[in-house]
Formats: sequence, structure tokens, C-alpha cells
Amino acid sequence: MKLSVCSGGYTRFFIHDTSEALRYFANLGYQAIDLSIDSSYDGLLDDPDGSHAKTVKNVAKECNLLLYQAHAPASADPTDQKLVKNLEKTIEVCGYLEIENLVIHPFPTDDISQAIPLNAEYFSQFTPLLDKTGVKLCAENLGNYNDVRHHFKTAEMLNGLVDKVGKKYMKVCWDTGHGNLTNKDQYENVTKIGSNLGCVHIHDNYYPIFVPGEQYAFDAHNFPLFGNINFDAFIQALIDINYKGTFNLETDTPNRRGHRDFVYNGEVTLKLKPIPFEIRKKSDEMLFYIGKYMLETYGLWED
Ligand SMILES: [Zn+2]
Repeated sequence: MKLSVCSGGYTRFFIHDTSEALRYFANLGYQAIDLSIDSSYDGLLDDPDGSHAKTVKNVAKECNLLLYQAHAPASADPTDQKLVKNLEKTIEVCGYLEIENLVIHPFPTDDISQAIPLNAEYFSQFTPLLDKTGVKLCAENLGNYNDVRHHFKTAEMLNGLVDKVGKKYMKVCWDTGHGNLTNKDQYENVTKIGSNLGCVHIHDNYYPIFVPGEQYAFDAHNFPLFGNINFDAFIQALIDINYKGTFNLETDTPNRRGHRDFVYNGEVTLKLKPIPFEIRKKSDEMLFYIGKYMLETYGLWED
């Protein structure tokens, strides 16, 4: 199984140029990339002559990196017309870059009975473009354990959406961290998703350890094995369903921190944020070896 990493935490904060980021990941040893087109700060969605996408495609090829999946722009508002245009552009870019799986966030709804019909109707508008490009949308599990508006927390709901939109156009992206925050069994849900699983988001957190006074557990996007998710259960599920995608790390450590503000002499003090890139680089080396260790332990590492 190829070891993959999400580009967003880098292109947003550290390396804005996507091609440079791809070279950085390839040097660390990664074999595949989850391209954050939503947080590309060098304009993959604003590329009228396609030259930028062409450069990214060439650099990925030169670095022997598989562009397997991408992050789509997301919103909680299905009436947002800008989102429709941006999703169309993203699907076109994925088609050109031969990215098979585009991860979308299903919309929250007040009423669970509306969750599948509303999302199926919304995402079905893109089927002609999905036919043309060969891209599949992957619905991601979202939410928190006490979140009453996000209903796509289980294999049953995600599979229900796939059935309604059609397997030709939609698959599932299982996010391990969100699965933990919603208190779901990783093995049970991943095996039920089965052949509908297109790709994964791997990160860790500490459900049910709460931030005092907060009504939710924190979506920390920690390195795997730095929280309380049972990754033996998750990897065994991937093996048992004969998953053929990549092992994709969607971590954001040590950038994403749910700390309280500290006000000193009337000013919010954040001297230790953001983390300098030199420290991030050291932690990236470690992240690669954690992913490799997890795959090697299960005989899944590919040279
Ligand atoms: Zn995710």
C-alpha cells in the first residue's frame, strides 16, 4: 500500500508552491499525495490556461508521486453558488491530473431524514462532469459525538448516500479522527463500507478527553499513535475489505492546537505559534517513519 500525505497543512502554512511541496514530500519518501486543491495558495483553481496544473502534473511524474486523492472546497451552505463553480473547477483539475478520488463534505441538515435526499440531489448535479472526467466524489464522515446536524457518521449513512447518487459517481472517504470523535467503531464501520471505500484520512485525537468548558472533543489531527484510536482495528479492516487505495496521513501536528487564549498586559500572547518550519521538518521525518512502521508491521509496505 502506498504511503500518502495531505498537502494542505504545508501549502497553507509553509510551502505555498504546490510543485515545491511535492518535491519536499518525495524527498521524505512519500509515494502518493492527497492534493489540497481547496487550500492551494498558488492558484490551482485560478489557472485559465492550465499551465499551473501542467507543471504540477509534470513534477508529480518526475518525483514518481501518485496523485490519488484531493480535497474539494467545502461549505455548510448548499445555496452557495460560488461553491458550485469551485467544485466544477476542482473536478476539471482532478480530471486533468488524473486524480481518481475527490473528497467532499456532505452538508449538515436539521432533520436526519433529509440528509441523504438533500445531499444526493446536490452532488448529482455534477454527474455529467464526473462522466466526462472519470473522477469520483468521496463522501467523508464528519461531526462530533454530540453534533446533531452532521448525520454522515456511520457506514450505513455513507453507503446510503453512495447508493442514491450511484456507485459510478460516489465512494466514501473514512476519516479515522472524525470516526473517533463520533465514538464509532473503526473496524465495524470500515468493513461495512467495504468496497465503497475509495480513500482514507488518517489522523489521531483523544476522544473522550474534553477541553474544559467546551462541549466537544477536539479534532486535533494528531500523528497516528499519538491519540487513543485503535489503528490495529483500522488496518485490519482495510486488509479484510481488500482495500486498494493509499494509506493517507491527514495530520496537522503541531499546527492545530485547541488551546485557550492567554491575555497578558491586555494582549493575546501567541509567541509559540506558529511552529517554525525547522521544527515542522523534523516532525515530518518522524511522521513518515510512523506511517512506514504501521504498514511494515502488517506486511503492507511497498518499496
Ligand atoms: Zn478528513
